[in-house]
Amino acid sequence: MKKIIILGGGTAGWMAAAAMARFVLPRGIEVTLIESDQIGTVGVGEATLPHLRSFNELLGIDENVFVRETQATYKLGIEFANWARQGDSYIHPFGEYGRGLNGIPFHHLWLKARANDNAEALDNYSLPVIAALKNRFEFPSEDLRSILATYSYAFHIDAGLYARYLRKFACDLGVKRIEGKVDRVEHHADGNIAALHLENGQSLAGDFFVDCSGFRSLLIGQELGSPFIDWSHWLPCDSAIAVPSEAPAGELRPYTRAEAHTAGWRWQIPLQHRMGNGIVYAQRYMQDDEAQNLLMQGLPGAATNEPRQLRFQAGRRQESWRKNCLAVGLSSGFLEPLESTSIYLIQIAITKFIGLLPANHVASQRPQRNEFNRQMALEYERIRDFLILHYCATERDDSPFWRYCRDMELPGSLQNKMALYRQSGHIADYKNGLFLEPSWLAVYQGQRISPKQYSPRADTIESDELAALLKNYAALVRRATSDMPLHSDVVDRQCGPR
Ligand code: FAD
Repeated sequence: MKKIIILGGGTAGWMAAAAMARFVLPRGIEVTLIESDQIGTVGVGEATLPHLRSFNELLGIDENVFVRETQATYKLGIEFANWARQGDSYIHPFGEYGRGLNGIPFHHLWLKARANDNAEALDNYSLPVIAALKNRFEFPSEDLRSILATYSYAFHIDAGLYARYLRKFACDLGVKRIEGKVDRVEHHADGNIAALHLENGQSLAGDFFVDCSGFRSLLIGQELGSPFIDWSHWLPCDSAIAVPSEAPAGELRPYTRAEAHTAGWRWQIPLQHRMGNGIVYAQRYMQDDEAQNLLMQGLPGAATNEPRQLRFQAGRRQESWRKNCLAVGLSSGFLEPLESTSIYLIQIAITKFIGLLPANHVASQRPQRNEFNRQMALEYERIRDFLILHYCATERDDSPFWRYCRDMELPGSLQNKMALYRQSGHIADYKNGLFLEPSWLAVYQGQRISPKQYSPRADTIESDELAALLKNYAALVRRATSDMPLHSDVVDRQCGPR
């Protein structure tokens, strides 16, 4: 492999280019990125997951520079309002609830204590939840014994600024950038892609192609015909309108807000210089103008730009790596932004690909391709199930949309996870990847799904001992979060006053 061509300069394209600049260019492989100003980028994608920190670290990007350059704020989780019932609210935190004991997960201890009327609300045992509700933030401690080591954090970013920053980063390291619109794709006799031809007559031949062309899915979808697996019957939202507004005066929230409405939900993402706002809805249940009115009425400040309409379909490409083409970002699939998972999927596609790339040329990339596609399918399916949980775990009966979500037939994998939790409080065991035990716990309990029983192992702890343990832990959370600085002060401290 001598030449890699990346098609697309959105978040996916520039994240891929930046990583390749660090890990592929030094191996003597030329990397070129083509982007078209005429087409532009999707222009949304502001809420992230903690994994982005390790991506930046991998690239060697200083976190304070990143926060300053992208007008970022810190994020401890997502608040979900009105999901199980109108008036409900909970936070899905990037962190743990309490501490387990003798190998017994904390939530079984909490369930037992609750059955004896000896427990506070689950939230009170989560440091990131309570810190978020107080608009406070501090960096986690590296001392694993400290309660300040029980959480992680992510960022809210201006995605346009992030792509611009990565563009400079990648180009400084030697990635070539070409502006132009691809209008024809040339193939070898075996179907592999040979070259991309631009409208201006230029042609770019390559050995390997990275499709970051967004929803167009120009290479993997249109040219190579990787089938699209449609999940819109489980995730019926297919439209969004996004609009930025002035940042509201007052405290800076260290969390994303996702408020359900009658046919979907609305987001608020606090950045340093503005608030990102949007509404997600299912066209089948809500007209565009109704959605736009709802969005504009709920803005926390004056709009600073025109609203932008977006359409999408939930699902993924059957293979994100087909022949000599790897799809990264929206071209490989889309799961709605409820849990901020798209940039994560971009990041892991890139790191998995670079990890699988053999040191020397190999005749067939089939084993790498198969393994990559297997791992990506698992990632997508796990996120899919987690997102569906937010919709199906509802008691809302106030609109056809919610009645559909409540009654729809679920994927077998999710049915099993939910039955397991309902019966025994057991949460499907994931040791790595996205959405581990505390995430499922947050959404189950936040959306009023509670187990019939707790693990009998919790009965090995005396009720009085348990009550004292829980009382101490909640007190520790209250004390530690009261001592934390305000989130806005930390942002100012790290990157200068706004
Ligand atoms: P795009 O940004 O669409 O970029 C495509 C690129 O391909 C552009 O540069 C375009 O010019 C180029 N291109 C296409 N065709 C051609 C051609 N023929 N010739 C030359 N160039 C071409 N993700 C998150 O992680 N968090 C969020 O909070 C979040 N919110 C979202 C909200 C909504 C409503 C939507 C729809 C998405 C959201 N996402 C979010 C997803 C996120 O926006 C995307 O994953 C991310 O922006 C990556 O997009 P992309 O680079 O794949 O595509």
